Amino acid sequence: MRKQFVVIGLGRFGSALCRELDMLGHEVLAIDSNEDKVNSMLPYSTSAVVANATDENVLKSLGIRNFDLGIVGIGEDMQSSIHCTLLLKEMGIKVWVKAQNSYHQKILEKIGADRVIQPELDMGIRVAHKLDSENIIDYIELSKDYSIVELIATEYIDQKSIIELNVRAKYGCTILAIKRGEEINISPLPNDVIFQGDVLVVMGSNIDIKRFEEKGM
Ligand code: ATP
Repeated sequence: MRKQFVVIGLGRFGSALCRELDMLGHEVLAIDSNEDKVNSMLPYSTSAVVANATDENVLKSLGIRNFDLGIVGIGEDMQSSIHCTLLLKEMGIKVWVKAQNSYHQKILEKIGADRVIQPELDMGIRVAHKLDSENIIDYIELSKDYSIVELIATEYIDQKSIIELNVRAKYGCTILAIKRGEEINISPLPNDVIFQGDVLVVMGSNIDIKRFEEKGM
């Protein structure tokens, strides 16, 4: 579904988001106070405007309240980031914000940011999980204790069916999908067979996933 996003602050984070959302076919309004940044985003957005995103009247005149979600990528200027988030929340739209540090994150959460992202921190955690195991190729944190991971099937489970592996009973994890090359089998059946090199999308508690990965694969 085509959504309408407003991306404010076109640093590395905001501009990457803008390009990607535009490529995915969404409507993107890009805003920055720096004209060069705005010009560089013109080909990768539906529209791009030079504006101070802490000016309520400017945001109103741009019709921000009609957007599905605002993303605030203003980094260093914490005060502007907080101010802008507050204005967007007052306009009644969902807001995701990039935070500089935990202090910034706390304030943003207190004023109602719907999601706070600390890119360096989040990426550090993802990379650590990938480094922790040779078999993990991707990792999504569902909560502090639960995750979805992509694991490469080892020789140990080659040609075993889901029922034979009995992952849910033995390890408390669920195999959500099996990827084989370009094909993806979502909600696999008990008799579906896994081959070495398949990518298993597994959901469970971090402890259970680790047990499965170390003892069951
Ligand atoms: P990144 O790490 O994503 O490159 P950063 O954390 O270094 O970014 P900044 O460069 O400080 O963040 O800010 C990102 C962008 O936000 C800049 O292009 C800046 O011009 C813009 N910006 C800052 N304040 C405002 C504001 N009040 N209104 C609009 N844009 C702003």
